[in-house]
Order: sequence, then structure tokens, then C-alpha cells
Amino acid sequence: MANDTETNFFADALERLDTAAAYAQIHDEALERLKYPKASINVSVPVRMDDGSLRIFQGYRVRHSDVRGPGKGGIRYHPEATLDEVKTLSLWMTCKCAVVDIPFGGAKGGVMVNPKELSRLELERLSREFISRIAEFIGPETDIPAPDVYTNSMIMGWMMDEYSRIVGRRSPAVITGKPIPLGGSLGRETATGRGGYICLKELERRHGWSPEEMTVAIQGFGNAGQAVARLLHADGYRIVALSDSQGGIHRKDGFDVPSVVRTKNESRRLEAVYCDGSVCETVEADTISNEDLLELDVDILIPAALGNVITEDNAGRVKARTVLELANGPMTSKADDQIDRSRTLVIPDILGNAGGVTVSYYEWLQSRSGDYWTEERVHERLQAKMATEFNRVYAAMEERGTDMRTAAYALALDRIGAAVESMGTSHYFGGGS
Ligand code: NAD
Repeated sequence: MANDTETNFFADALERLDTAAAYAQIHDEALERLKYPKASINVSVPVRMDDGSLRIFQGYRVRHSDVRGPGKGGIRYHPEATLDEVKTLSLWMTCKCAVVDIPFGGAKGGVMVNPKELSRLELERLSREFISRIAEFIGPETDIPAPDVYTNSMIMGWMMDEYSRIVGRRSPAVITGKPIPLGGSLGRETATGRGGYICLKELERRHGWSPEEMTVAIQGFGNAGQAVARLLHADGYRIVALSDSQGGIHRKDGFDVPSVVRTKNESRRLEAVYCDGSVCETVEADTISNEDLLELDVDILIPAALGNVITEDNAGRVKARTVLELANGPMTSKADDQIDRSRTLVIPDILGNAGGVTVSYYEWLQSRSGDYWTEERVHERLQAKMATEFNRVYAAMEERGTDMRTAAYALALDRIGAAVESMGTSHYFGGGS
């Protein structure tokens, strides 16, 4: 990400906070405090490569706020991961945890690396070394990492093991998104997509639409995109467009999602669905670019890949009646202004993709207590939590006469503001906040 974009990313996030503050009850000083992450650590991570050479990677961890509980947020591996990007993501985590009312603050981490260039052993050495460099900064009561872009449960397992070795006791609650045998939670893998699906079901209940009448386009067909596609398809929704980094496919009658998932995961690219092998012979589909997918005349559009894909340049051409943001930050604040609110409802990322962090919270509870839940229990708790908070945000939107994103931020700011007030005025200036 170029420097200008980075700066704009954080500035964009602050702009949204200011917009929402006008609809929220939060002291000016508490709001000001949120504009500065509480602490950050910048580390160099030396890794011995398989050929004997030494490479040094740059890594970061930012704790944005722990007013409502320990910092919570993923670690991403990306060649362009920067401190500014990580800072922005940590601020969103603070707001996300507040909007679904779980007792966490916000944090995020990143390492500047292209993991696809590393062998498995190099990746393990990098992951363990990164954790050893930030071990004093994180902990089950202070700051709890999780997976994010290009990190997964296997990496979380290595990190938990390394942290436990450093502190001299098994410490599964230091990290979430772990493999099940190491204390991971059932239902975590699909929680982000499921959380978004629950939001859409609440909207379905309010509008009384019938799933069979509804068309859906999904950008990004990874963890989040596949999970929501499967659930909607099983309910009868017509998934008419799908894409990944290689491009997209479009079919008016809708796709048979399980077979697309199977083919994509076997071939590792969506392209194979329409041009290679057996599925290609049975499914007729047009190709579509990622840009055109966003402008399709569908009922529901789900950006589930990257940030900043809907900007002031294309927002005016978005035709979907509902946009469910599963990606973090798919729409810029300038794009928000271009969306025709009388036509399109945007379920914002800090609510739409909060199912992931919610089940991470359940995993943390299970890791601390040693009492592991059934998948049904995880689904039930997630269902109740997401439905309740979706309806709170919806009501706040109506009561405060604003859009859903502003209402979600305002609700988050109310809750953060109330926590700051409860601590006492001195905390506005440091200390616990
Ligand atoms: P993933 O890596 O599993 O999948 C990402 C998908 O996006 C892949 O299909 C990839 O091919 C596609 N993609 C990449 N570049 C693209 C491009 N230029 N155009 C279209 N598609 C492209 O990642 P994920 O975990 O599904 O995360 C997707 C988004 O959801 C990210 O923004 C992430 O921050 C957000 N998110 C994920 C979780 C979670 O628990 N997985 C939680 C909250 C938010």
C-alpha cells in the first residue's frame, strides 16, 4: 500500500468516528483518546532460511484500546503490511468488539512478508520468532491475537506453543483461531460468514422477502465468502455471481454452491469452475470482472475480499438493495456519501463481519475454563448475539435518523464512552485507558 493511501486509511477511519460522535454519547476527551492507539510495538524478526541465509522481517503489534477489556485482533502476513494499516485495523477492532458488546478492546498485528515465498519450516520459524519478540506485549489478560489475512489455525497453534514455552506454562487463552486439538473452538472456521448470514436473516424477517426471489453477488470466495454462500444457498437464495483474485463468474439462474466450493478448493482457483473439467461441462456461466461484479443489478452484494473496493468512483453505480460488508473496510467514507440511502442499506463491516471475533471470544472463554462447547452451542450463542446486536443497531439507525454504519459506530462509542466514564476522569488522560 502506498504511503498516501496508508495515511488516508487511518484518516478515513477517524472521519467516521467524528461523524458518528454527533449521534453518540461520549465525552469529547474520551473520543480524542480513541484517535491515538494506546501502545504499539515495532519489531525486527530474524529468520534463518532453509538455504542457511538470514532474512529479517518487520513486524508490528498495535493495541488500540483496552478500555472495555484486553486488546483483541488478528495478525496478518502481507508484503505490504504497514504500521498505519495495522493501526487502522486495530481501531476498527475496538469498535467491532463494542458493537457486538463483547468484553474486549481492539488490537492488530502484522508482519511484512509474502508467506507464499516461504517453506513450511521457514513459516514456522518466522511465526515462533515473531511471537517471542512480542511475548511481553501480549497475554490472555492483555492482548489476544488471532488469524487474519494469510495466517491460519496452524500458525496460531505454533504461536500458542511458543508463547507457552516462553512463559513456562500452557497458555491456550493467549490466542484464538487455534486448531481444535490445541483448544480451538468448534464453529470458529465459519463464524464470520455465519455472522453475516444471521444479519441477512434478520433483514429477511423484517422485510418478509422470500429467499427464492433474492439474487446475491459475492466478491471473494475464501473463508468468509464460502461460508456465507453455503448458508444462503442452502436457504434457497440464488447466488448469481462469485469471484476470487483471478476473476469472477456470473450465472442468472444461480450456482450450485457446494459443487463450486468443491471445484474451487480442489483446483485452488474459481476459473476452473467454468473452464476445466466436469463442472465446466455442466454449468454454463459467463465470466465477469471483479469491478463489474460490484455493479451488478442484484438484491444483495457481499464484498468478502479486500478493503477499499467501493470508492467515490464506483459507489454511484452500486445497484444492490443490500450490501453486507464481510471484508474489513470494503467501502471508503467518500463512497458512503455516494450511496443512495433510500435504495441501498449497507450492513457495515464492524457489525457484518463481527461473527468471527464473537466466536473468538467464545474460544477464549473455553480456553480459560477448560470447558469445551458443542458446535450447536456455539451456533446458538452466535445466533442470539448477532441477532440481538443487529436489531439494536437497526433500532439505533431508526431512532437517531442516520445510516446503519453511523448507527453502529455511535452505539460502539456509547459503550466505550460509558466504560471510560466508569473508570473516572483521570483515565481520559492515560492510566487504564
Ligand atoms: P481468505 O484469504 O480466506 O479469502 C480471501 C478471498 O478473496 C480469496 O477467495 C481470494 O482469492 C479473494 N481475493 C483476493 N484478492 C482479490 C481481488 N483483488 N478481487 C477479488 N477477490 C480477491 O480471507 P477471509 O478470511 O475470507 O477474509 C476475507 C475478508 O474478510 C478480509 O477483508 C478479512 O479481513 C475479512 N474478515 C475475515 C474474518 C475471518 O474470520 N476470516 C473476520 C473478519 C473480517
